[in-house]
Amino acid sequence: MKEEKDHMSELNINLVHWSGRIPRYKIRRLYELDALGILDEELVDDVAYGVYARCQSILQATRAYTGIISCPRCQTEIQHQWHRQEYVTCPTCGWSVLLADYAKTFLNKNLHGGSAMEAWSGYVERFPTAHTPQEKMLLIDWLLHQIHRSTRSVAVQLIGGSPREVMALLDDLAYGDMSTPGLSANQRAWREQMLSGAYSGQMPARESDQTDLPQSDRKPESASTHTSAQH
Ligand SMILES: [Zn+2]
Repeated sequence: MKEEKDHMSELNINLVHWSGRIPRYKIRRLYELDALGILDEELVDDVAYGVYARCQSILQATRAYTGIISCPRCQTEIQHQWHRQEYVTCPTCGWSVLLADYAKTFLNKNLHGGSAMEAWSGYVERFPTAHTPQEKMLLIDWLLHQIHRSTRSVAVQLIGGSPREVMALLDDLAYGDMSTPGLSANQRAWREQMLSGAYSGQMPARESDQTDLPQSDRKPESASTHTSAQH
């Protein structure tokens, strides 16, 4: 019986998927092109959706740390007690895994949201309202501001590389010559605040509605299942 369950756990664990970190070169390319006045829609979408998926994985993994797993088959939330030999079983669809197997998929994978929980959830909430490439670019830019000012350990949850490599990239974006018509207001404010040491975590100043961030008045469709399953 136990062997049978172990076999089932091995099969079921394959349904668990965490989205990967965004490669540094993609973000650098995005800003380099943007600085030349080129908004590569395909690249913007690639990064914007990749960041969205990574943020969702971070939010979900952080909940797993607190004892709540989202069933990968039906999104029902399942509680666990952090006992290695415990079987976590979905009451809705019967999906079941050994907690030790599940833990292996997310522990030490840069998936804990840390001190930037508001940034991850802010991106996920605003994402469905960002329709144009410009809006998506501004949203990506907003998130990068948030994690740049956060603790060093936070940025590597989103972007691939060592903490030093990732911070070097974010410093380049903040201080470098990658200012653009679309991002100029954001970047100028970001740079000024960084340089003056007065960066207090507020959203960058905006000059017009055009550079405004999408508002979070609509919930993302895919997040509704998570929200509704919360107790
Ligand atoms: Zn289920």
